[in-house]
Amino acid sequence: MKTIGLIGGMSWESTAHYYGALNRETARLRGGLHSAPILLHSLDFAPIAQLQAAGEWGRAGELLAQSARALEGAGAELIGLATNTMHHVADAITAAITVPFVHIADPTADALQADGMERVGLLGTRFTMEMPFYRERLVARGLEVLVPEVGRTNLHGIIYEELCRGIVREESRRVYVSAIELLAARGADAVILGCTEINMLIDDSTSPLPVYDTTELHAKALVAAALAD
Ligand code: GLU
Repeated sequence: MKTIGLIGGMSWESTAHYYGALNRETARLRGGLHSAPILLHSLDFAPIAQLQAAGEWGRAGELLAQSARALEGAGAELIGLATNTMHHVADAITAAITVPFVHIADPTADALQADGMERVGLLGTRFTMEMPFYRERLVARGLEVLVPEVGRTNLHGIIYEELCRGIVREESRRVYVSAIELLAARGADAVILGCTEINMLIDDSTSPLPVYDTTELHAKALVAAALAD
């Protein structure tokens, strides 16, 4: 099995979930005492979040490219970036490495299409919902993508003010459930949890639509890539 390089810390709450998911999936596929060979570079999220808020994506891309290069130098044989939002700078990362980069939107699109989903809702940070980098990758795969028409600032705020700090509130769960109900009313077949912390609030038992959790799907895809020849 190849060594997985994970760029994490954005936030550490979701990176902790990745760590569990990568190992659970490896144990499921390989059995026994097998666990995933992982090199984790966990960044300090505060300066990254500041760069996001300031729109300094070029600088953020340099930092993540440096991280990816360091992971490759340390022996990582493929790289994953444990956040949807920072895939905005995926090109800077892929340009810095020679090993494969597993893009989080690809296994998400694969899973939706395998289930015959065509029109999907997308929840995430404002960056993920409003900027083209994420939606366009899904649309290029033939999916129709709906983002909430209202309440995006609130959905975004819950991620940074609560989930990334480990705070899970019933009231915020209701905000997310309402957003999913509105997406369902517009004809969405399913909803993408397009932020790696949303699974702290929403799962199939609380969601009015079938849930596609990018954290789980990405972790499984990283393990599959690490086990491929
Ligand atoms: N983890 C989140 C995501 O998947 C948000 C934090 C970040 O901005 O990286 O988008």
